[in-house]
Amino acid sequence: MIIKVTDRIYYVDHERERICPKIGIIVGDTHTLLVDVANEEEHLKEALDFLREHHYPLNLIVVPTHFHPDHIANLTLIDDCEIYCSKNTSRYINRECHVVDNAEIDLGGLSVSVISLPSLHAKGCLGVLCEGVLFVGDALYSRMKNGVEYYEKSIIGAEIKSYSNIEFDVAIFGHDVNMLGNKREIVTFLKEKMKGN
Ligand SMILES: [Zn+2]
Repeated sequence: MIIKVTDRIYYVDHERERICPKIGIIVGDTHTLLVDVANEEEHLKEALDFLREHHYPLNLIVVPTHFHPDHIANLTLIDDCEIYCSKNTSRYINRECHVVDNAEIDLGGLSVSVISLPSLHAKGCLGVLCEGVLFVGDALYSRMKNGVEYYEKSIIGAEIKSYSNIEFDVAIFGHDVNMLGNKREIVTFLKEKMKGN
C-alpha cells in the first residue's frame, strides 16, 4: 500500500507478517530517491508501478538505511540506479556505490539530506531527510547481543545529540505504524533509554 506523506514524499508500507520494511519514495523533477528497497519483490514492484503511473522520474537513486538483508535484498532486481550508502553497508552490496556519511542529493528542484545516524541496531545507519520528514530505517530499534538487549551509553548519548541537531518534524520508522514520532518524542525516548528504562 502506498502512503502519501507530502506531495513529494510517499512510502510503500511495511508488512509485519513477512518482516518487510517500508520503501521510502521521494520524487524530484529529474530523479526519484528510494529509501531502502525491501526484500519482497511485490513491494518494490508497487513502488516502481506507482512511479510509472504518475509519470514520476525513473532515474533512480537508492539510499539503503543499513545493511540488513530485509532492507537491501531487492537491489538485485534494479540494474540501473545510483546507490549512496555507508561504508559498512557497502560491504554487503556487491556493486558500485557512493560511500557517504553525510551528503546532499539534488533530485531536481528538491534537495535531500543523507545523515549518518549513531545506532544501537546496526553499524553504519543512515537517515534520509526531506521537507522535515526523516526516514530513520531501523536506527532507533535495539539489537540483541548474546540474548540481551545491546546497550551502550556512549551511543545513546550520540543519538540524543544527533537527533537534537536534525531539523525534522516527523520520523518514519522501517517497520512500525505507531512509532512515527516527532523530534521531542524521540529525544525523550532516548533520554529514558539513557536512564536504563
Ligand atoms: Zn535492521
